[in-house]
Amino acid sequence: MNFFQVENLTKKFGGLTANSDVSVNVEKGRIVGIIGPNGAGKSTFFGTVSGFYKPDGGRILFEGKDISGRPPEDTCRLGIARTFQIVRPLSSLSVLDNILVGAFLRDKNKKKAVARAEEVLELSGLKELRRQPAASLTIADKKRLELARALATRPKLLLLDEVMAGLTPKETQDAVELIKSINKRGITLFVVEHVMEVIMPISDKVIVLDGGRKIAEGLPEAVANDPEVIKAYLGE
Ligand code: ADP
Ligand code: MG
Repeated sequence: MNFFQVENLTKKFGGLTANSDVSVNVEKGRIVGIIGPNGAGKSTFFGTVSGFYKPDGGRILFEGKDISGRPPEDTCRLGIARTFQIVRPLSSLSVLDNILVGAFLRDKNKKKAVARAEEVLELSGLKELRRQPAASLTIADKKRLELARALATRPKLLLLDEVMAGLTPKETQDAVELIKSINKRGITLFVVEHVMEVIMPISDKVIVLDGGRKIAEGLPEAVANDPEVIKAYLGE
């Protein structure tokens, strides 16, 4: 049985085809990168596989189950969590309460949800900031909180959408370390990044989208040297 398999996924917004016939297979425990120029369809792909958009064609299989078109509550309960490119913390709530919201999505038992939130605070390095209102955080910490909230749902598959965009080199390095430590705990990661240099060293496999289509897939080094990929990036 495949862990996560997407077959010929198509998603349209009116007349615009944001994802066209995209097929992807992700093995359990891996880090898979998705790259591609702006507008390539990366965020749409995450939106569709996590149930925020209904696909116009194709199938999404998670641990052998067809989850195509299932709403986010279902995909979350099954073990898929995502972050949003535009971070959307509940600004007036504290860091801890934001994480608790994620924990409660998965577990209605208060004791268990609180324990999970504490664990995630520790893992994400947000412990010191637990009482701060989310609105007061730096961009880097807001991105970290977005990741922590997704992590609180106890995902098996975590979809990260540009969690490193806009960060300083040091903050980026910290985020990379956090991603690696999450993966070490057995969570499979699907990581969208616009910047190739960040994603290449940590990915077991890289998928390239351009104009809604998958134009390349393979080991990071092979993909980075693929003429079609280079053309897609130079053409921006
Ligand atoms: P990426 O994340 O690779 O930059 P997106 O998935 O955000 O690309 O966008 C792919 C295409 O779909 C773009 O042309 C974008 O304008 C369009 N698009 C994305 N989301 C929507 C939406 N909710 N409604 C209409 N068009 C959208
Ligand atoms: Mg995007």
